[in-house]
Amino acid sequence: MTVRDADLPTPVETQAQIRLAEAVVARNYAPLPVVVTDADGAWVRDIEGRRYLDCLAGYSALNFGHRHPRLIAAAEQQLHRVTLTSRAFHHDRLGPFCRDLAELAGLETVLPMNTGAEAVETAIKLVRRWGYEAKGIEPGRAKIVVAADSFHGRTTTIVGFSSDHEARSGFGPFTPGFVTVPFGDADALSAAVDDETAAVLLEPIQGEAGVIVPPDGYLSAVRALTRQQDVLFVADEIQSGLGRTGTTFAVDHESVRPDVLILGKALGGGLLPVSAVLATRDVMRVIRPGSHGSTFGGNPLAAAVGQAVVALLDTGEYQERARALGEALAAGLHELVGQGLTAVRSRGLWAGVDVEPDLMSGRQLCERLLGRGLLTKDTHGQTVRLAPPLVITRSEIEWMIEQLADALADGREAQHHG
Ligand SMILES: *Cc1c(COP(=O)(O)O)cnc(C)c1O
Repeated sequence: MTVRDADLPTPVETQAQIRLAEAVVARNYAPLPVVVTDADGAWVRDIEGRRYLDCLAGYSALNFGHRHPRLIAAAEQQLHRVTLTSRAFHHDRLGPFCRDLAELAGLETVLPMNTGAEAVETAIKLVRRWGYEAKGIEPGRAKIVVAADSFHGRTTTIVGFSSDHEARSGFGPFTPGFVTVPFGDADALSAAVDDETAAVLLEPIQGEAGVIVPPDGYLSAVRALTRQQDVLFVADEIQSGLGRTGTTFAVDHESVRPDVLILGKALGGGLLPVSAVLATRDVMRVIRPGSHGSTFGGNPLAAAVGQAVVALLDTGEYQERARALGEALAAGLHELVGQGLTAVRSRGLWAGVDVEPDLMSGRQLCERLLGRGLLTKDTHGQTVRLAPPLVITRSEIEWMIEQLADALADGREAQHHG
């Protein structure tokens, strides 16, 4: 059920849309009671005509904001030429897109897919086959080391190594071959790696877990260790990559280059699902015709939009915005610790804030923020994630922090009177 603050009655049109959705849409989400009809840049508008600052940005799929003019133009041009060929034929958009993306990432080859989970699955297949063919692991024995509290998607293989009970319960039996270690602990990782380990798969910063930034030196330690042990380092930058943290990739903060890089979300510019697995030529060599594919992966429309996304990042402008505005965001949020927040974690324009449990839940804070014109999303009970589009302005960030401060103050007020 969707509940809204008692002092904020849900308007009639919104109610009607929610009732319709609740009747016919599977309940795999519990959306906030707002019905979006259109959007532009960092702002969305609901069916009642009210505006909201989008501080979730499609879980970072909207890094460049809603309907970025350059991305819309790239899509529109392509719509008038060709949108789908299948990979049975070449088309003139795929090579240029993959060339530019590989160059952006400092890797050599690209395997285009659609969604994030598909790209993670693709990386799992890639590193396992590399483990057998290049490293010489006994058939059927390859292991992948993963981190506790990770989020890599929703397929059966991926939820099989998730530590989130709700994400996995009832979906087994699961795929074997995964070993879980605590995130941020290089010694634990080192102890888990052996001759049968094909790869280590990590989010450089854990998004879904609440924007968990590992200790300084962790990613470089993982890089050194995997190199020593002839193990591939796979970075899932589906949420952390493409400008979000103030650098093109989150691994750039430690100048680390993984062997395999997984991208998604913002790669599609908020227009359509575009994901990719990038790797060195040497690793990608194990993928041969017939061993992997996708009907839609690398289609002309996706490639046109993806290439336009890479062009936006090539300027460095968005990374710089995320870095500079991220400092303002962090400073503002840290002021609220002790004022309703117990902790703030952030990098670039990406923050996880923990709400005082006595005050309200993360969900309740999101509901209060909705009433104040801010779209946010809670995670794991007490945490709220803030990840506005990178096109957000400094004054909009200040306004966002004001609303957050006021929503927390409202909560304290309600507590006194309750
Ligand atoms: C969102 C996400 C995925 C899954 O992407 P989908 O497009 O939803 O399948 C995988 N890994 C990370 C780190 C993500 O944030």
